[in-house]
Amino acid sequence: MSFRVGFGYDVHQLQEAQDFWLGGVQLEHYKGAVGHSDADALLHAITDAILGAANLGDIGSHFPDTDPQFKGADSKVLLREAMRLVSEKGFAVANVDSTICLEAPKVMKHAPQMSQIIAELLGVDAECISIKATTSEKMGFVGREDGIAVYAVALIHRNL
Ligand code: MG
Repeated sequence: MSFRVGFGYDVHQLQEAQDFWLGGVQLEHYKGAVGHSDADALLHAITDAILGAANLGDIGSHFPDTDPQFKGADSKVLLREAMRLVSEKGFAVANVDSTICLEAPKVMKHAPQMSQIIAELLGVDAECISIKATTSEKMGFVGREDGIAVYAVALIHRNL
């Protein structure tokens, strides 16, 4: 059995009157995340983490934000495709751990639903998907509610 670890990081601006997708769930908030796709920073960070673990490049190399095909894209589709590429190399996901940095709204009540959605995309049990959240204590772009940042790590394994 061989193990590989990957790391992902993503940031999106928050602006008023935008949809706010996070972990495949639509949040109720006066601001939302801005991006070429649906701007789901949690799914993007996890996508980069599994791609990185398999040394398959990054989300931008597979789904360029200059490509009109990905305008408004559902990030669940992108994560599913990344998982397909990881699986093609013979890997399965062991677990994912993530930290959402966001001043508002509070998101932990949605964590079980997010874990379930991500687990289904990655082909693992929801218990293998950890989601944590922190504010930035009112400091920096997260603290000013100008943006969201997400960190994620993923462990993958294969029988080689
Ligand atoms: Mg992104």
